[in-house]
Amino acid sequence: MPANAHPTCTLVVPVYNEEAGIELFYKTILDEIANLKADFEIIFVNDGSTDRSKEILKEITSNDTRVKIISFSRNYGHESAMIAGIDYSSGDAVICLDSDLQHPPKEIGKMLEKFNEGYEVVNMVRTKNGDQNARESFNSRFFYRLINRISDIKLTENASDFFLISRRVAEILKSDFRERTRFLRGIIQMVGFRRTTLEYEAAKRAAGESKYSFWKLMKLSFTAIASFSKIPLLLGIVSGAIFGIISIILIIYSLIMWIFATPVSGYTTLIIFLCAFASIQLFVTGLIGQYIGYLFDEIKGRPIYLVEEITDNNPN
Ligand code: UDP
Ligand code: MG
Repeated sequence: MPANAHPTCTLVVPVYNEEAGIELFYKTILDEIANLKADFEIIFVNDGSTDRSKEILKEITSNDTRVKIISFSRNYGHESAMIAGIDYSSGDAVICLDSDLQHPPKEIGKMLEKFNEGYEVVNMVRTKNGDQNARESFNSRFFYRLINRISDIKLTENASDFFLISRRVAEILKSDFRERTRFLRGIIQMVGFRRTTLEYEAAKRAAGESKYSFWKLMKLSFTAIASFSKIPLLLGIVSGAIFGIISIILIIYSLIMWIFATPVSGYTTLIIFLCAFASIQLFVTGLIGQYIGYLFDEIKGRPIYLVEEITDNNPN
């Protein structure tokens, strides 16, 4: 790229049932990028919305040649939507941001500045824990600490699904990180390259409501841990060892009592032991089951998403 040429930048925007706020989002983005020195491409990934999001998007963007709309055949989830956007992107820089204005578009300029300084990954870190954003505040409180402790990589706390990556990193994600069980926010922090973080204040959701329920959050957290760490699998060995030691002590104690005194009537001990042992055993079995499930998904190698329709406003 010649020194004074503008970089091209792709904005990747997952959209799932956002009919209430998508128009405001698009207007805000237009105002924001009008003043920036970059050529933009905007990819809306319609993740199987069941409301009028797609129709509204088509209507309001029909004259904008920078816009592409990729529509999935059904709902595949936020992570898949981001991956699809990255797959179809062509910009020198690719920025992922939510379509509910929780990731303030005014930060795009600062992210591009960092990109122009030569950074290939720009991670956006929340300073204010917008309590409206259940997914991210849950994750930050408990989960980053856990994952940093039990895996080889160090994730930046409070990192979000708001980030910039260079073309090179986008190509790497496209070709080498096709895992079915994936946590993009973590992956972009482990690929290496020149990386920096910027702070931003998370805003309230502009309209509509969060698509992440408590269980979806739990699932996402476990997915993240499982995709970066095998340490939970050690739980079986560790709890086995602890129980083994306790068992030896109990056996010796019971034998001594049997030989030298009256046998112990250990109903309570038995119940406690039985319950603790059974629950730990089932827990560990379940954990192994989860990992096998992930293996199963990988082996089947099914597509991460299926595209039903692409609307490309660019005639070329
Ligand atoms: N989203 C998606 N597919 C889903 C759920 C969410 O594409 O299955 C999009 C949603 O439209 C939004 C972003 O992902 O742009 C973040 O979702 P949401 O705001 O509901 O999550 P929260 O910010 O509450 O954690
Ligand atoms: Mg949100």
